[in-house]
Amino acid sequence: MAQDNSRTPYRHPQPKESPPELVIAAAIPADERVWVPQAENVWFRPLCLCASRGYWMNLLRVRKSGVLSRHRHPQPVHGYVIKGRWRYLEHDWVAEEGGYVYEAPGETHTLVVDEDVEEMITLFQVNGVMLYVDPDGAVLGYEDVFTKIDLCRKHYAAIGLGADFVDQFIR
Ligand code: FE
Repeated sequence: MAQDNSRTPYRHPQPKESPPELVIAAAIPADERVWVPQAENVWFRPLCLCASRGYWMNLLRVRKSGVLSRHRHPQPVHGYVIKGRWRYLEHDWVAEEGGYVYEAPGETHTLVVDEDVEEMITLFQVNGVMLYVDPDGAVLGYEDVFTKIDLCRKHYAAIGLGADFVDQFIR
């Protein structure tokens, strides 16, 4: 008679090249110090800083209305709005709480949080690089997973969690 093995764990080791999984119990952290300041009233919370693949997963939190950044994505971005609402000046749709957004490669757009939004939190997966640009597309600066890691290290060192606090998020 065939045995029911539906609850039998996989019996073999994981591939040795496979990095350890990353589990964060509270993506929105209880400890305020985990949020890394990025600009005035703008923070990010690292979740997975994938140095080996060149992308990052983070929560972006904004507590100020206004224009945040004009940027270009050479690669796709995925977003899930956890709280609040935001939009791009270049599009007529609004990213609402509970919504999902796919940002296509090649897009240049300007993120705006409207005045009646007290707090916006969005989970973003950003691949490759974010290029900050002027209205004509001239590059003013950039972010990638390595500048993100660097910002985390400096913040966690300064705030007393230690520069190596960021290491748990790196894969
Ligand atoms: Fe974008």
